[in-house]
Amino acid sequence: LFITLEGGDGSGKTTQAQLLTEWLEERGRTVVRTREPGGTDVGVEIRQIVLHHRGEVDPRAEALLYAADRAQHVGTKLRPALARGDVIVQDRYLDSSVAYQGAGRVLGATEVRDLSLWAAEGLLPDLTVLLDLDSQAARARLDADDKVFDRLEAEKDDFHSRVRAAFLDLADAEPDRFLVVDAAAPIAEIAATIRARVVPLL
Ligand code: C5P
Ligand code: MG
Repeated sequence: LFITLEGGDGSGKTTQAQLLTEWLEERGRTVVRTREPGGTDVGVEIRQIVLHHRGEVDPRAEALLYAADRAQHVGTKLRPALARGDVIVQDRYLDSSVAYQGAGRVLGATEVRDLSLWAAEGLLPDLTVLLDLDSQAARARLDADDKVFDRLEAEKDDFHSRVRAAFLDLADAEPDRFLVVDAAAPIAEIAATIRARVVPLL
């Protein structure tokens, strides 16, 4: 079972992934809790390149770096985990590439999706939770010293608006795969909504 969490910076993906992991473990499941970019040793180095050189990296180079991170992650970590029957709970996956590089950097949703699917050898999640929140609300929730705050600040509002709209378009196109949640709701309420959707998948 492969579950991904998607959404803008500061939408609460990491918090919900952690809560979902704890709940699955209480139910006796073995969970691989991971993320992109940076879910492998190779990926951690790729993550440093894209995040430390933000603004200097050519958009196509950026898309290819995320694709390389994904290929390494799928090939060495995700496929083996699924083969063992583990549950994967992951922050960000190919929908982030479509939203950030496809829409945010305007490379095109179709092109970036095709690149991502090639990198992932077609592996799609069973469930993708989209934590939907506008960037103003995300910014308001974060501490100014939070590193996620700096990441939000690094891009203009229209970038974040394109990313958000792209995520919602992806969810509209694949309603069976996506659960869209209002990320402004209380943490416990969001967690319960996610669990209710996961139960039939177990
Ligand atoms: O969610 P996380 O903190 O791991 O994301 C790291 C940063 O990389 C975020 O600022 C996110 O916006 C960015 N990112 C991106 N394109 C992706 C994935 C993440 O710009 N495909
Ligand atoms: Mg996070």
